[in-house]
Amino acid sequence: MSETADVIVVGAGGLGAATAYYLTARHSLNVMLLDRHGIGSQTSPRAAGMVSCLRKGELMITLIKDACSRIENFTAETGQPLDWVHSGSLKIARRPQDVAVLETDLARGRHMALDVEQVSPTEACDLNPFLKPDGIVGALRIGDDRYFDPAQIAVGFAAAAAERGARLRPDTAVSCVAVAGGRVTGVITADGAITAPVVVDAAGAWTRQVAEESGLRVPLVPTRQQLIVTEPIEGAAATLPMVRIMDAAVYVRPCRGGFLWGVYEEEPRFFDMTALPVNFDIADMPLDMAVLQAAAVAVADQLPVLSTAAIDEFRGGIPTMTADGHHILGPSPDITGFYFASGCNVAGLSIAPTLGALLADWIVDGKPALDLSTMAVTRFAGTEWTEQQLRREAAWQYRHFYGAV
Ligand SMILES: Cc1cc2nc3c(=O)[nH]c(=O)nc-3n(C[C@H](O)[C@H](O)[C@H](O)COP(=O)(O)OP(=O)(O)OC[C@H]3O[C@@H](n4cnc5c(N)ncnc54)[C@H](O)[C@@H]3O)c2cc1C
Repeated sequence: MSETADVIVVGAGGLGAATAYYLTARHSLNVMLLDRHGIGSQTSPRAAGMVSCLRKGELMITLIKDACSRIENFTAETGQPLDWVHSGSLKIARRPQDVAVLETDLARGRHMALDVEQVSPTEACDLNPFLKPDGIVGALRIGDDRYFDPAQIAVGFAAAAAERGARLRPDTAVSCVAVAGGRVTGVITADGAITAPVVVDAAGAWTRQVAEESGLRVPLVPTRQQLIVTEPIEGAAATLPMVRIMDAAVYVRPCRGGFLWGVYEEEPRFFDMTALPVNFDIADMPLDMAVLQAAAVAVADQLPVLSTAAIDEFRGGIPTMTADGHHILGPSPDITGFYFASGCNVAGLSIAPTLGALLADWIVDGKPALDLSTMAVTRFAGTEWTEQQLRREAAWQYRHFYGAV
């Protein structure tokens, strides 16, 4: 006899584990959380763990503010550890056109009651002495920003879900979502079928693969993102504000007594997950140090430390980009009971607590608590992206994450 559940969540990364947690903690549902690899072992633990509050739209700012309070209360709520530091951040412009973007950012941030202020290049460098003023023409201080240990969120949510009755199944790949009469009936795994009326596709880089097995095309592109963690550096205090250089799309934050830094490169590396071996693990992803070396040169005047610091760790993962930079969250209009939690656009870990809570309520209530139509998969209806168009749009969104024009 096959096993049953109220909801099966496919993928125990940040998004899937948060959804599973809120389904059990808030709604006492019978939840199974399946992962083809270990729980929380793929892209999520390889992230930078930066929480960026000054997003491009008001909805995202509302959501990320909610995520900040869930991150602050994570341990109290779930009983699981989460190390986080409220460091604030500096957004840096090196070109006049990016100063204009900062001015719009400032107005939006104030309107949304964020702690934002324009600071001079000298003031910015005083706040983080590893930043040098050469070539800086504008700077914004964002007091709400913070960072956390990316390895703790997904495993923490999953463990907390398990304590509340969710069944965790690592090393269990879903080969397809079973559908009959236009409704989800469960999933098929190598160990057999599991019956459920609702399945959440939170399979990260493999989201498309899971959906396509059920005949659903979801327009997102698995995209490499890499970072370096340096050896400890004298003076690199954990509370120094993070730095983002807009046009170079380089980010830095304190980490383990040194710095963690990465870049959204001009020509990102995309992956077709179906072309990779069946047992492909994100740890097997090819890394390319030349991308980081070029980025360090590009910001050498502002962040010389990136060119000189010894490297302790070089890692990367495969987040998913969409053509418009928004997540893909909510139900499929074509198959009843099929939900998505994906399209993270390299910023999905920090917002996972909020999206998981919203999706759990959406599944139970039949509608979202706020207007999330910008994240609905239906927004792409009638847009038949070729793979090439999709990659072109996704590449633009990727490189312009900080709003540089
Ligand atoms: C270098 C880097 C820096 C980043 N920096 C930040 C940052 O500062 N802030 C931020 O918010 N985000 C950041 N991100 C993005 C963040 O990592 C992602 O948005 C987030 O981790 C996505 O979570 P996920 O649950 O979608 O994916 P994943 O963590 O990859 O989880 C998906 C899971 O699905 C499982 N799965 C796949 N297919 C199947 C199947 N068929 N059956 C069962 N299980 C399956 C996988 O094994 C995997 O565990 C960064 C990412 C990288 C790589």
